[in-house]
Amino acid sequence: MSVPFLDMRSMNEEVRDDLDRLWAEALDGSSFIGGSSVDQFETAWAAYCGTRHAVGVANGTDAIELTLAALGIGLGDEVIVPANTFVATAAAVARVGAQPVFVDVDPATLLITGAAVLAGVTERTAAVIPVHLYGQPVDMASIRAVADRAAIAVVEDAAQAHGARWDGAMVGGLGDAACFSFYPGKNLGALGDGGAVVTDDTALAVKIRQLANHGRGADRHVHDVIGRNSRLDAMQAGFLHAKLGRLDAWNEARRTAASRYDELLAPHVELTDQRTEADSVYHLYVIRTESRDALQAALGSQGIASGLHYPIPCHHLPPYLDPSRPVLPVAEDAARRILSLPMSPHITDEQIERVAQAVKVHVQGQKAIA
Ligand SMILES: *Cc1c(COP(=O)(O)O)cnc(C)c1O
Repeated sequence: MSVPFLDMRSMNEEVRDDLDRLWAEALDGSSFIGGSSVDQFETAWAAYCGTRHAVGVANGTDAIELTLAALGIGLGDEVIVPANTFVATAAAVARVGAQPVFVDVDPATLLITGAAVLAGVTERTAAVIPVHLYGQPVDMASIRAVADRAAIAVVEDAAQAHGARWDGAMVGGLGDAACFSFYPGKNLGALGDGGAVVTDDTALAVKIRQLANHGRGADRHVHDVIGRNSRLDAMQAGFLHAKLGRLDAWNEARRTAASRYDELLAPHVELTDQRTEADSVYHLYVIRTESRDALQAALGSQGIASGLHYPIPCHHLPPYLDPSRPVLPVAEDAARRILSLPMSPHITDEQIERVAQAVKVHVQGQKAIA
């Protein structure tokens, strides 16, 4: 019995009839870009996030880049980013011409903290991007407090946290804007690329939509600004709308799987702590252990898939090397020891037990050698 990293097929099977129907409708209607299916999904996604607006874009990286651009952030500005994140967070900052400033993460949660942001603020800082990594929301109260004092924007990177809550409040409405990816493997995934920005700020939403659609203004032939093309496909919007109805149940199934892993693994490896205010959606289930590479190989030889999120912290990636060579000890240590175990809404108890048993046997074997 092999254990896949993510069982995407079972998720899509649950909505198969809807997906087949939507595909047929799209073909019949010949409407592939924009139109009512995009409008309806945007309305539904904004309602789900509890924000006034949602703007569909081509992917999660564009969502961040377009938001920063619409906020007027660019050359000469600094944007604070956690060192432990997917590279896209940093790339979006660099793409608008701003400087990503990497800060360390909390050793218990591996997330950015208000204290780290405070330490990273300079007079050039224009924004901070808290990343709700692995599905766990960042302590947004602490981030907001620092950001308000420093008068900088807060752009949530919620690409891994669809439906997560901090202190009861849904991610997406906790900053000036929030950016989502609908890459197929995310908690809410399209059947291709997709993304969205949500915000309560009407002017910002209008600006992002304009930048993402060739700089088009209210009159479609008047291109007031230099725009680009970053739109959410009509078909992807339809697929996402169909899957949105399952998101809460899928997230709940992930939480159940995570707590079963917690029980079985706590004696053997270091778990990723969850803050009491955090209601995680467990995009990933991440443990830390010495001999991580050997553990990953041992799991692989037993047909158990696993992943690394992320083995090289951003400030050590070639385009982002900082000449001042900052040492960010928590992110650097985590990069060496983290391992993401199989996690899906449809993972079975039997699969979880098999993974946990394999981890336990490996860790005990390592101890015996030591
Ligand atoms: C997936 C992801 C992104 C980028 O999303 P794409 O849709 O792949 O462009 C950005 N940030 C984080 C944390 C992600 O996990």
